[in-house]
Amino acid sequence: MNTISRNVSIRLRHLMALTMNPIFPRGPIRRMTVEIDKEELKKRLTPLQWHVTQEKGTERPFSGCYNKFYEKGTYTCVICDQELFSSDTKYDSGCGWPAFNEVLDQGRVKLTKDTSHDMVRTEVTCSKCGAHLGHVFNDGPKPTRKRFCINSASINFHSAGEEKKSTS
Ligand SMILES: [Zn+2]
Repeated sequence: MNTISRNVSIRLRHLMALTMNPIFPRGPIRRMTVEIDKEELKKRLTPLQWHVTQEKGTERPFSGCYNKFYEKGTYTCVICDQELFSSDTKYDSGCGWPAFNEVLDQGRVKLTKDTSHDMVRTEVTCSKCGAHLGHVFNDGPKPTRKRFCINSASINFHSAGEEKKSTS
């Protein structure tokens, strides 16, 4: 093989490796109820929102905009806009993150056992798009005893009087 054809062959193999590389996925992130374009999403979100929702990150305690926030309204998923929590069940847990006593509807979230960071916790994700929201603990107030410990970066607030922009 002469030098030129060898170079071409190497370049071709390199190109094929790039195309096949799963680090550069094409199309939606997950095959779930809603399909989300990863590139579009990265442009839309802040780096923190991306880190928390897509990489299961956690915002610093007492740093989130909804930690000490008690207006009447509904909290939706920052990614897919699904309604998740009501201000009626929000309370001050003192833990540094927004805390809710209950979900608007059980089907709105998915609960998964999480054993990362040498702890056994229950991870809370959005049932529609799979976004990481936070964790749920059993040390909350009555009646549910639950404490949904949710990152502000994962949710949006819509005040009670505000008309929802989506038609669904
Ligand atoms: Zn969602």
